[in-house]
Amino acid sequence: MSNTTASPLVGGDIRRLSRRTLLGTGLAVLGAPWLQTLAADRPRRVVVWSEGTAQQDKVYPDDINHAIADALRKQLPGWTVETAGINDSEQGCSEDSLNRCDVLIWWGHKRHDNVKDEYVDRIERRVKQEGMGFIAVHSSHFAKPNKRLMGTRCSWGAYKTDGCQLKVRVNAPDHPITKGVGDFTLPQIERYSEPYRVPEPEAVPFAGTYVYPDGKEEPTRVGFCWTIGKGRMFYFAPGHETYPNLYRPEVQRLFANAVEWAAGRS
Ligand code: ZN
Repeated sequence: MSNTTASPLVGGDIRRLSRRTLLGTGLAVLGAPWLQTLAADRPRRVVVWSEGTAQQDKVYPDDINHAIADALRKQLPGWTVETAGINDSEQGCSEDSLNRCDVLIWWGHKRHDNVKDEYVDRIERRVKQEGMGFIAVHSSHFAKPNKRLMGTRCSWGAYKTDGCQLKVRVNAPDHPITKGVGDFTLPQIERYSEPYRVPEPEAVPFAGTYVYPDGKEEPTRVGFCWTIGKGRMFYFAPGHETYPNLYRPEVQRLFANAVEWAAGRS
């Protein structure tokens, strides 16, 4: 990380350093406790990214990243919650932004290939080497940063939009991401059928059952956790742009929990 090579005693650089990086310099234990205080007091920052193709379906008129960010602002006091997108400078993935990012949430669907590899490199470095959290939403299973961090092709067995519902079950009641969330049903969902081709997750806080219009049932995993290098990663399978599932209070709560978890706070 380039700014670790600059003098860490310059204020602007200190603000850009992540808490872990700052503590990792060892300066705090070398007689600078004010540095520790400064790092701990810096508000955590989560950025919600979108490729900007969801608005046309009208369910998320301000885009999916704004819908997620609006909910996070209500639930994460003390956090700085921002949005970014593919049309921003450096596709919303500037070094400065990523270096100040504790957690990056990613939603994409149709423009995965338009994301430049150099920005994927930055995200990979921030997660694996510096501990940034990463949360992928629904169709971001095929997003470049998701595939890079997983190291697999990240395909599901099948994709169907046929009016089925999803009964979501709390599968790991002791996991921080399920705190305050009970079982719930998403009345309409795009079905992603197992297997999901990813490394074995360290936890599956949410699992569920798809219920077809004819009553047939199909089990699935819904929420997945991994540790990738120094960083934590969560994937939430629901989140299709034509269904309002991301407005559900249970979903909004679990996203807030996931941000805290991915940042290493819980
Ligand atoms: Zn979808």
